[in-house]
Amino acid sequence: MLTVENLSASYGAVRALDSVSLTAAPGEITAVLGANGAGKTTLLRAVSGLVRPTDGSISLAGRDLRRVSTEDLPALGLAQVPEGRGVLAELTVEENLRLGALGAGGRATASRLRRIYELFPVLDERKSGLAHVLSGGERQMLVIGRALLSRPKVLLLDEPSLGLAPRIVTQIFGLLRGLVRDEGLAVVLVEQNAHSALSIADHGVVLNLGEVVVRRDAAELVADDDLRHAYLGF
Ligand code: ATP
Repeated sequence: MLTVENLSASYGAVRALDSVSLTAAPGEITAVLGANGAGKTTLLRAVSGLVRPTDGSISLAGRDLRRVSTEDLPALGLAQVPEGRGVLAELTVEENLRLGALGAGGRATASRLRRIYELFPVLDERKSGLAHVLSGGERQMLVIGRALLSRPKVLLLDEPSLGLAPRIVTQIFGLLRGLVRDEGLAVVLVEQNAHSALSIADHGVVLNLGEVVVRRDAAELVADDDLRHAYLGF
């Protein structure tokens, strides 16, 4: 279980997070929603040690993550998929996948690779090809697959749907839901695409100007017309 309590962070005079609390439990997806600049990316960057919080706590299975450096997080079971689908374009799909295991200090076992290829058959078909020929959706699958190679307990995803066709988003989110169910993964899903995110999430947290303004079960949030119109734009 990932627990964030009263986390605050600033960039100089800009207060990007103001006392934000959040939990991510095994087998559940917590969607973090909100407009541009709400603080969603800062929240993920603070959890993964890339932004130093000014206040608050972050713990993973009871361990204080503020004392753990970013590169040690995969070995503790926390993997992140940053925005932008960064892959090493001149390496093959499989070489990119294998990098995910290196980050966690382990090797990409054949069974783990097989599992990723089962989840994303298109990566299996393209495993010997260079990563730069992949489509946006395939790249997104590759970066998720790479993060999964370290066998994380908690997965942080930043805007995975950005710029993808709705059909591809539905496909990737469906896979994610299945994965969470099958592997008991805890997911924090940062999205501007609230509609898609809430279709697979268990809980929704809405940030506005760095503060949590709404926290509800996803189904309740979707069913509440006033909240949806006020904060989610659908
Ligand atoms: P987006 O969807 O655009 O990524 P977001 O919800 O992820 O938005 P953040 O990127 O976390 O929001 O930004 C929160 C606030 O912090 C904004 O006011 C933003 O302008 C500011 N901010 C973000 N990164 C920096 C930075 N490197 N330096 C200064 N201010 C920053």
